[in-house]
Amino acid sequence: MRHFAVVGSGPAGFYTAEALEKAYGEQGRIDILDRYPVPYGLIRFGVAPDHQSLKAVSKRYDKVAESAGVDFIGNVCVGRDVSVAELLDFYDAVILAIGAPHDRRLGIPGEDLPGVFGSAQFVGWYNGHPDFAELDPPLSGTHAAVIGNGNVALDCARILSKTAREFEGSDIVGHALEALDQSAIRTITILGRRGPHQIAMTPKELGELGHLEAASPIVDIADFPPLEADQALEPGQRKSITILREFAATPPDPAKPKRMVFDFFAKPLSIEGDGKAERIIVERTELDEKGAARGTGETYGVPASLVISAIGYWTPQIEGVPYDERGTKFVNEGGRISDRLYAVGWARRGPTGTIGTNRPDGYEVADLIAAAMPAGSSGERAGAEGLKRLLERRGVIATDYDDWRKIEQTETGRARPGSPREKFVRHQEWLQTIGR
Ligand SMILES: Cc1cc2nc3c(=O)[nH]c(=O)nc-3n(C[C@H](O)[C@H](O)[C@H](O)COP(=O)(O)OP(=O)(O)OC[C@H]3O[C@@H](n4cnc5c(N)ncnc54)[C@H](O)[C@@H]3O)c2cc1C
Repeated sequence: MRHFAVVGSGPAGFYTAEALEKAYGEQGRIDILDRYPVPYGLIRFGVAPDHQSLKAVSKRYDKVAESAGVDFIGNVCVGRDVSVAELLDFYDAVILAIGAPHDRRLGIPGEDLPGVFGSAQFVGWYNGHPDFAELDPPLSGTHAAVIGNGNVALDCARILSKTAREFEGSDIVGHALEALDQSAIRTITILGRRGPHQIAMTPKELGELGHLEAASPIVDIADFPPLEADQALEPGQRKSITILREFAATPPDPAKPKRMVFDFFAKPLSIEGDGKAERIIVERTELDEKGAARGTGETYGVPASLVISAIGYWTPQIEGVPYDERGTKFVNEGGRISDRLYAVGWARRGPTGTIGTNRPDGYEVADLIAAAMPAGSSGERAGAEGLKRLLERRGVIATDYDDWRKIEQTETGRARPGSPREKFVRHQEWLQTIGR
């Protein structure tokens, strides 16, 4: 029998557990650990609440959790409640799938002013992450800005622009729905350092902006290269640019009170204001020979009492695990960190790619493990039994998948009409629900 600990129950953790289960069958026991009693990582806390069909991937993960060789051990934070070295004592292999939960900083003056948030904070607030339940982003001003030209920036801008009716059927948490319904924000500027050809926004997410109830996307055709240049783009990107060109050709709908303005070739220099964010000072850029943004010296102010930066994430360090300071992830080679220690998902690759990108990642690492310790070979490790004894001695309340089911049922039961669930947004509420 082999014992495996997968640390993190996001997509990467579940795909790895699925792959290990397939590789080892009855010869393997896989424990998926998570710092929270609720699983799924960014499927719960990142993916937008108005994109429920994407969240349905969790049904596949449930099947993995229910299979005979797999257990969920929640409410255990690796690095705090148990060290990686201790896990390596209990398990034949440890796979770190802890994601990249922290916001990359802008590194410009004024970014610590009240009213400036990273997207992990803002997204966590509307998605019910316990660390950000109290965020209370200022929504009483008329202007907001989102820094970044990827899908997360689009998520943030779209959520800021939607009406309460457009959130029907979503699982946006009650406190965010209420606050957004009262929001005075009328202009949301999306700032990108480079041009339309350099965006990392996908067609589906961009296309949605053309159908918003109360907001019109505003794009300046002068920002585009000649139409022929689009031919060189790969098909998905070309589709995105075509959508942006359509926005540029469509005048804003006078019946819609909100504007979502794409400000390309705009590099934030600083955030200014009297004790809080009031405006971003931006430098106009152009592309240099290598396609990088080069400042032109021309500056201007973009009014914004709420600023959200969506420019990437980093993985936290864990004692004893080599860390790639520049890449913001664990040092690894094809997923292998060191003897019996591996990384998958964002902790392995950095914060890029879709949910599906994590699947081959998990399978690849399961293959590496199976090559190093073939199914049928036996280890001498204590597995979950040893871990649970240690956690008990330390007073750590470990939870299981039945506990999660109870939380899930309670969240479903208290949902608004038409919504799949009303999430608990505090750690204590999860534990109370399961009587701990
Ligand atoms: C705002 C946002 C929106 C997105 N929207 C989409 C989308 O619409 N479509 C799409 O395809 N992709 C989307 N993605 C990308 C997708 O969410 C990621 O590719 C995927 O979640 C990465 O998986 P992961 O398992 O590596 O990390 P995560 O999903 O972050 O999972 C990490 C898990 O590890 C746990 N953990 C962290 N630290 C510890 C610790 N010390 N001990 C124990 N457990 C720990 C966390 O609680 C979490 O459950 C989005 C990402 C973001 C940020």
